[in-house]
Amino acid sequence: MRTIDSGSLQLSLIRESVGAAFPPATLFPDFGDEIFARAPVALGPSYYNAEKQKLVSSIHSWLLCLDGKLVLIDTGYGRGKENGIAEAPFFLSLAAAGVAPADIDLVVLTHLHTDHMKNNTIATADGWRPAFPNARYVVGRREYAHWQPGGAGLALHPGQAPILAETVVPLVEAGCLDLIDDETELLPGLRTMPVPGHTATQLALLIDNGEQLFVHAADSIHHPLQVHRPEWGSSLCEDGPLALRSRLKVLDLCAERGAILMASHFAGTGAASITRSADGFHFEPVEITRSPRAAHPEPQPVRPQAV
Ligand SMILES: [Zn+2]
Repeated sequence: MRTIDSGSLQLSLIRESVGAAFPPATLFPDFGDEIFARAPVALGPSYYNAEKQKLVSSIHSWLLCLDGKLVLIDTGYGRGKENGIAEAPFFLSLAAAGVAPADIDLVVLTHLHTDHMKNNTIATADGWRPAFPNARYVVGRREYAHWQPGGAGLALHPGQAPILAETVVPLVEAGCLDLIDDETELLPGLRTMPVPGHTATQLALLIDNGEQLFVHAADSIHHPLQVHRPEWGSSLCEDGPLALRSRLKVLDLCAERGAILMASHFAGTGAASITRSADGFHFEPVEITRSPRAAHPEPQPVRPQAV
């Protein structure tokens, strides 16, 4: 396991939940038992619950402090937020990183699935309002259209409509949602890259402070097993062949550039180094230890908000 000290860029994993989630063959229909001998780390206790025979999955966001700007990548599943943010695991994790919702400058939504956007908003007496009141939120222009009436995403998953009404429409009404092109520089050192397939229009993020490149893969890769077996598509993806091309693009980029992979659902440290192996790619967990609080110019006290 390696530790990252990346100078002007600090990263924190904001965990909402982690646990045994999927029987392997449910998430990966091509799963075969021979992988246990070939990928002992990817199927070690951080990533596989042997007793329950289920893959371990995490729901988390990544918090970046990049040249003094606080950026949140995705906002999780909204667990417990009906009880107010003072009790919701996501916001408790954010507070533990020394950051209040009002401190966030930018929220980047990789795609509009429930587990990536549900803490966008909080309930108030005036209805759903942005949970990060001083932030701009951004989402891909095509991803947004994908989930509008008549879009392919909503046609596939019509049950998303009421969730979008609570978590995305209020951002539009508040005037804080910006639609971006597939390849957009959001800040110096932070830009988007299309990784279609999981949704037809999702975006990854490239984070580069000049010393180290990090690749946030969105949901182009769900579990470390797919580093060893990229061809194992997840049952959660809209377009399997397209998702495979995106997964290989991410893994190739990480291996060629020595980039750290930041995954949306990896348990353990959530991050990994990727190298080429004789039969594909090799996975090694990476621990990211520096917190945004250490680099924030004027750390703010945590200010839980009443809802
Ligand atoms: Zn997801």
